[in-house]
Parts: sequence; C-alpha cells; structure tokens
Amino acid sequence: MNAPVFSFTDNLDMGRVADFPILSRPVRDKRLAYLDNGATTQKPQSVIEAESKFYLQSNANIHRGVHWLSQHATDLYEEGREQVRLLLNAANSKEVVFTRGTTEAINLVAYSWGRSCLKAGDEIIVSGLEHHSNIVPWQLVCEQTGAVLKVVPVNEDGTLDLSVYKQLLGPRVRMVAIAHVSNALGTINPVVEMTRLAHAAGALVLVDGAQAIAHQVVDVQEIGCDFYAFSGHKLYGPTGIGALYGRYDLLQSMPPWQGGGDMIRTVSFEHTTYAEVPQKFEAGTPNIAGAIGLAAAIRYVRDIGLDNIAAHEHALLVYGTEALQTIPGLRIIGTAPRKAGILSFVIDGIHPHDLGTILDMEGVAIRAGHHCAMPVMTRFGIPGTARASLALYNSREDIEALVSAIGVAQKLFGVER
Ligand code: PMP
Repeated sequence: MNAPVFSFTDNLDMGRVADFPILSRPVRDKRLAYLDNGATTQKPQSVIEAESKFYLQSNANIHRGVHWLSQHATDLYEEGREQVRLLLNAANSKEVVFTRGTTEAINLVAYSWGRSCLKAGDEIIVSGLEHHSNIVPWQLVCEQTGAVLKVVPVNEDGTLDLSVYKQLLGPRVRMVAIAHVSNALGTINPVVEMTRLAHAAGALVLVDGAQAIAHQVVDVQEIGCDFYAFSGHKLYGPTGIGALYGRYDLLQSMPPWQGGGDMIRTVSFEHTTYAEVPQKFEAGTPNIAGAIGLAAAIRYVRDIGLDNIAAHEHALLVYGTEALQTIPGLRIIGTAPRKAGILSFVIDGIHPHDLGTILDMEGVAIRAGHHCAMPVMTRFGIPGTARASLALYNSREDIEALVSAIGVAQKLFGVER
C-alpha cells in the first residue's frame, strides 16, 4: 500500500475540496457539509471540463461514421472503456460493457443470462442487505423462469451469516448476486471468499460494486467474479453511465437483451446476426459524453490512488464513529469489523426524516430513509436510518458539523444531551 498522500488530520485534503467547485457554495447560508456520497458524489473540475470539451470540440455519433469527428469521438469513447478496464484490472476491454449504471448492468445479466439459462427450480442467492436493484431484477427473472430466490441472513453487526451461505450453496444454485459494500450499513462483504465458495458449488457470481468502486481498489481478477457492476456517478463521474464487467466467454455465450442499431452484424427480415461483445450489449446511441466524463473521473481517482482514498475515508470513519458514539440515544446500525465510510444511525425520539430535515437547515446533507434496502431495515426492525456517507473530499470539519447539527435537532425535539 502506498503511503497516504493526504489525511484529514492535516489540511492537505483542502486541496481536494478545491477540485470540486460545488463544495464551495453555501447551502441555506451555511457551509455545506456534503455527506450524501452514497447517493451520488460531487464532480471534480476535470470531469466537468472533459464532458463540456467533448461537446465543444469532439461531438459526433460513434462507430458508424466515416468522417473525422465520428472517428475521433469513437476513439474517445473506446478510451473510456480502456480506463474502466484499467480501473477494474479486467484482462480485456471487450469484457467491459457500458450501461446507464449499476441498475442497468444487473438487469442486463438478469435478463440476458437469466432468461436464457435458468429453469424452474434453479436457485439464485442474494443477501439480506442488498439494494433493491440487486433484488428486484432477480425476482422478475424468477417469476419468468420458475427459479427461486434464496437469501443469506444478516448478523446483528451487519455482517453476513456465512455458515448459512455455505448451507445454501446446494446443487441447484446457478447464481450468487452479492453487494461488495452495503449502501445501508457499510459492511464490506468477503467477496473473494464468497466467490470461491460459489464457484466450488458450480454457481456464477455477480458483484454489485456500486458502493465499493470509489472507496477501494477493485480487482475483478483477484475477486474472481463473473460479473461486476458499478455506476459512474458514485465515482465522481457523470450520471447515466456505468459499466458491467463480464467474463469474456460468458458474455460471448449470452444472447442480446436489447435490439437496435450498433448491436448487429447483419439484418434481414429472415435472419439477423449480432455484433461481437461488447457492442452486442450496447444497442442504440450510448452516453458518449458520459463515458468520456467517466474516463476523466477514473484518471482523477487513479492519480490520487484508491489506496490513499481508502486510508483517508477509513480514518474519517473511525473519527466519525467515535464522535457519534458519544451522543446519548444514538445507535449506529452496522458495526461490522470491515466497513466502508458509511455511518448509518437512529436516534431515540427523532424520526430519521425529521433529523434529515433539521440537519439540512444546518447545511449538513445526509440521506434519511430505507436507502432502497427495505429488507435490511426490516431485519433491524426500523423504518429507516439517517446515513452519512463519506468521500475523498470530506474532512473532520464535516463530521463536526454533523455532530453539532444533531445537537440542534435533539434540542428542538427536547431530547437532552
Ligand atoms: N447497488 C447499491 C449497493 C447501491 O448503493 C446503488 C445506488 N444507491 C445501486 C445498486 C443502484 O445504483 P444506480 O442507481 O446508480 O443504478
């Protein structure tokens, strides 16, 4: 691991704040403490410039044009694919399919692989802490094929019960679809071990990397997974772009899921043949500017080093956890030993939505609710949590703003500190 290049304990991270123009704007006449990074991250100047430069200088449709601008735009778009390959350490850029984001990537696998490969009685394993986008696509494909969904239970600290997981891995299991990091609890799941066990049982593995991609080094070859999904907007990149990594031989064997331009080789009314991967899965004009913005975002985080980002966020998570634990009536939900920078909590006597609204009045942006992970809220017997989620530009000052705004809320609600 490289030595951290910046740390919240000194002020070097202030340079990082300056990279993000939006962070210097006040909100409700207060200094903005943006702690909603699990929902989406802010964008550095370099990403904003890469997108607008594309429209200013390079805009054309890709892959189909004979003219210079089209070829230039195609090169930039394909360079984005190469950046994703580098980020994930995939062996081949043909294993990278651009999608709208994590949700679309998971739906692609559920529809293409699931509908063509699953039979009645086959099993799909998910975990009890999944985001709805790693539950509902599998439920839909189960309805269509007669496959059955099995669920790995969540322990009290937010880790997964691996002994039950091992029992669930029977001969009918065809797919294990699991979050790398839980968006509601912050738990980092042992995806390397879970993948090894799934493969030993003859199942494929899809990892939902939405909450991991910006916060740690991700190496799909080291994980050994068959599919890995992520969204650009959670990685300091644009919305509407993300990617699916898929093992080359698997992608080759899967049927297309959307038909249209760019995904074909030949079309006649009698018979249509399809393009090679990844184009086979990229029907229609894609988000070209988004892919170029995503490439800029990947360059940005790789320049800093994802190890350094992880170290910074971990230090801040430890600081934030200790600070929140001193607040009477506050309970942190999700206390796994291996956690990403997510602080989910409930406070006696204050509904998370009320808390979110009061914090907002103090310039502190957090998320309140079920975080699109209703089953895990049910597991903990709560309607929702307040969630502060960290990014590379957060500092101790943001945590202090959070703690002091919680004090304001407790006073308003007559909950004494
Ligand atoms: N999975 C997880 C774990 C997430 O946190 C999210 C976004 N909150 C998603 C999937 C869906 O991502 P997107 O909306 O960008 O497709």
